[in-house]
Amino acid sequence: MAQDIKLNLEEILLDISDLHVQYNTDDATIFALNGFNLQVRRGEKLGLVGETGAGKTTMALSVLRLLPDKIGKVTAGRILYGGDDLLEQTEAYMLGLRGRRISMIFQDPMTSLNPIVAVGDQIMEVLDLHAPYMSRYEKNERVDRILSMVGIPPARKMEFPYQFSGGMKQRIVIAMALIAEPELLLADEPTTALDVTMQAQILDMMSRLKQEFNTSVVLITHDLGVVAEFCDRVAVVYAGKVVEQGAVEQVFARVRNHPYTVGLLNCIPDLESTAARLIPIPGQMADPTRLSPGCAFADRCVHCMDICRRKPPKMYEQDGHWILCHLFKERED
Ligand code: SF4
Repeated sequence: MAQDIKLNLEEILLDISDLHVQYNTDDATIFALNGFNLQVRRGEKLGLVGETGAGKTTMALSVLRLLPDKIGKVTAGRILYGGDDLLEQTEAYMLGLRGRRISMIFQDPMTSLNPIVAVGDQIMEVLDLHAPYMSRYEKNERVDRILSMVGIPPARKMEFPYQFSGGMKQRIVIAMALIAEPELLLADEPTTALDVTMQAQILDMMSRLKQEFNTSVVLITHDLGVVAEFCDRVAVVYAGKVVEQGAVEQVFARVRNHPYTVGLLNCIPDLESTAARLIPIPGQMADPTRLSPGCAFADRCVHCMDICRRKPPKMYEQDGHWILCHLFKERED
């Protein structure tokens, strides 16, 4: 499907096509990604939204080849990064890529920080691994610079994680993710645990990074409000598939949307509305242990038609805004 997206190929940094990932446990097989397609352009900020369990984090772990050993498995698809298929690269290649060219910020900063190592040393470790040619002096300078950039006084770099607040720890994790100036940052709910003031500061800081290093950012979130404020484009994920993708203006214009996106948009509080309640999306997320032959959203969709349960929808695309839904005219093959 990637060939259908009218993007300049030179611009595309990450191109995931028809990716299938499953988790095998003793009890069941969970189909986490089921034909996942996504393109990320150089220097853009892309929001990846959807409910918990939609497959957003699995996508990021697949790109970094960090799926849980023996349980998580890519069964089909391609992940092109700068033209190379990451699924075909050696572990040595991936070691050079992780943290250097692609970084990830995990949801909980405490799982990313070592409690018994000073934060400055933890940030320095990234440079020791990825920039061994730099002198100690240069590395120290770089650590001080990145700490200042994330709003942590460099004088505090010999302190330990417990001496910082939750927001500061998250900013230290972001500093670790950015010290090697990656081309792509996968930020998995980086602001979920933070108050709105800190959230605004971190989003502002990630915007500045884009300006300074031309870093592409994939912001994984369930918060469409954050996406509207921060991102250039948005991809909506449901049951392991991107069901809508487009520029933020196109998706938020509410002219043409996937019914699931409509449901998500209806869940955003509107201060000007006099409605007493928000409209929730009915039903539960599709069972990931049972793949539907048709549209995975059928059980929750008010527009569901007979064909929806039998046939997977094809892509409808207009001006780079695409939607997977039978409501729209099917693309001719
Ligand atoms: Fe609803 Fe059918 Fe569209 Fe799925 S394909 S979102 S069930 S109208």
